[in-house]
Amino acid sequence: MSRKLRLMIPGPTPLPPQVSEALARPMVGHRSKGFAELTARLHGKLQQVMQTNNEVIILTSSGTGGLEAAVANTVNPGDKVLALVAGKFGERFRDLARVYGAEVVELHFPWGRPVDLDAVESELRRHPDLKVILATHNETSTGVVHDIRGLGALAAKHGALLAVDAVSGLGGIDLPADAWGVDILVTASQKALMTPPGLAMISLSEKAWAQANKCRAPRYYFSLPAAKKALAKWNTAYTPAVSLFFGLEAALDLMLEEGLAKVFARHRLLARATREGIKALGLELLPPEDVASPVVTAVKSPAGIPAESLRKILADKYGVLFAGGQAELKGKIFRIAHMGYVDQLDVITALGALELALNEIGHRVDFGGGVAAAQRVFQGGAE
Ligand SMILES: *Cc1c(COP(=O)(O)O)cnc(C)c1O
Repeated sequence: MSRKLRLMIPGPTPLPPQVSEALARPMVGHRSKGFAELTARLHGKLQQVMQTNNEVIILTSSGTGGLEAAVANTVNPGDKVLALVAGKFGERFRDLARVYGAEVVELHFPWGRPVDLDAVESELRRHPDLKVILATHNETSTGVVHDIRGLGALAAKHGALLAVDAVSGLGGIDLPADAWGVDILVTASQKALMTPPGLAMISLSEKAWAQANKCRAPRYYFSLPAAKKALAKWNTAYTPAVSLFFGLEAALDLMLEEGLAKVFARHRLLARATREGIKALGLELLPPEDVASPVVTAVKSPAGIPAESLRKILADKYGVLFAGGQAELKGKIFRIAHMGYVDQLDVITALGALELALNEIGHRVDFGGGVAAAQRVFQGGAE
């Protein structure tokens, strides 16, 4: 028998059976009436899940394509942008802005710590000509959620656009995009949205559209004005990933049936149980708990135990996939994702497997200690 795989990585995430079933539907024409109706329904459901009244463009690309669309449509060559870098994905957004010829002002924060709003405001004061702030909502590489509400207020006060990479957080963490003043919101299908990789979603505020319509950066496949024109007829500019549209609708239906507030509460509870389990095993979390992510938990590997060896045992022997650390955190941390189609027993499985792997590698822990701590959180009920 092939190994039973348990994906506990921050994307791709496990698929609900309803999504898998939808993905297997027979192909249809993407210029058909039926597909236009699907696109219209998807649009309404995406607006609900993305908590925005702005138009939502669906791009057939990975999340990075969505980030590229954000930059290519709002940043003119030579424009000054502020990149907030506190992890791998903050770096990626910065790199994109550089490639598009922006004059990038960088603000760095330690990996595993949140963005400091005072530092951001000083930078906005120092550079009154900053056009766009590039921010990460859930920094997947460190398991930290940044203060988008605070950044939204600063962007509005200083007349800059706020672009947010919400690829891993959206759908698992409450992010009222319009209410918090997010101008450019980017997410993708394969994380908390429980759909395979291949779709990016992006929405722009009125201010951001004004910029997109006159932007001088080169763009073709990722032209948002072209996408918007097609959307007016519930169409896409180019052939979309038809099957993923089917799957995405099934996933959004599940989320809306559960109710967004409950979806967010479920993720918070799973994250808290994971953290309590980790602490009960005597391990240390990377971020401070008040900014720790509801969708991915970053854990320091115990002294003398390379995170990669631990991950190898988990994967080879138990089929449990944790993520490793990226860049400067490689080998030092491992990350347990609990985003999307996840429940209490997934957390118990993760902790149980971790206990086995730790003992196997010679780092003795009490069997059941981490699991019991998580169970106590679950039976304690309320968040
Ligand atoms: C996964 C992820 C991305 C996009 O990655 P792709 O591999 O291009 O889909 C971007 N930002 C964050 C925060 C992510 O977690």
